[in-house]
Amino acid sequence: MPEGPEIKRAADRISKALAGQEVEKIRFLYPSISKHQKLISGAKVTSVNSHAKAMLINFDNGFTLYSHNQLYGKWTINMRTTANRSRRSLRVEFLTSKKAIRLWSATDIELISTDKVKSHPFIKNLGPDVLCDFVDYSVLSDRLQSKDCRNRMAAHLMLDQKSFAGLGNYLRSEILFFANINPHLKPRELDSNSLLKWAMSIKDISMRAYLNNGITVSKDIEEQGKLNGEPRRYWRHYVFTRNDRPCRICSSKIVRLRFGGRRLDYCPTCQD
Ligand SMILES: [Zn+2]
Repeated sequence: MPEGPEIKRAADRISKALAGQEVEKIRFLYPSISKHQKLISGAKVTSVNSHAKAMLINFDNGFTLYSHNQLYGKWTINMRTTANRSRRSLRVEFLTSKKAIRLWSATDIELISTDKVKSHPFIKNLGPDVLCDFVDYSVLSDRLQSKDCRNRMAAHLMLDQKSFAGLGNYLRSEILFFANINPHLKPRELDSNSLLKWAMSIKDISMRAYLNNGITVSKDIEEQGKLNGEPRRYWRHYVFTRNDRPCRICSSKIVRLRFGGRRLDYCPTCQD
């Protein structure tokens, strides 16, 4: 499933293609929205943004197209002249004079009033969006120490959208490694320095992934990995998908754990 950084990058690309542009045609092809097709005819897209893993396309007539990709949804942006060979089910299509912007396969799509976005059942229950400008180290540190979070295991906390919105599998492993947090620990078992380091790691690793196309390692490691001809999955992260390989810091073997069937990779020495 795409995580917050991937959705935010997609929102940036869609915004570039649609916001303020002349849209020649909008097609809603999914039952939950096709009945609203008329509401949108002639409307302009004013902005596109993401909130955690939700995509929000805002129109100038007071409506917003909300979509969540879940496991299968996918946005594509192509030149309008490119032949469309996808076998996926088309849900939404925007055509400008040059581009075709399409949403495929998603099932969680709604047209809502823009002023109701914050009270949407999915969005209103989310924790702080880790990529939001207003969510800084101190917000995240307070959240870790909150009643809702302080007694929960790190491994569970880092995937729970109600605690921290926008995180997913790869970010969870990378954030805990970068903060030297053992996945079994709970915030209440940590001192204030460790909690601050954890909060900083949530923000910094998520931002790094957003700015650098999902890559969480430093530029040196990325370049060295490419130079060595390693596959992307070996150099993209510090620990995630590097199980059984040596830790980049201490050379211990990276270990894979599973929590609720989802993989978490960590270094038993750095995250003792
Ligand atoms: Zn290590």
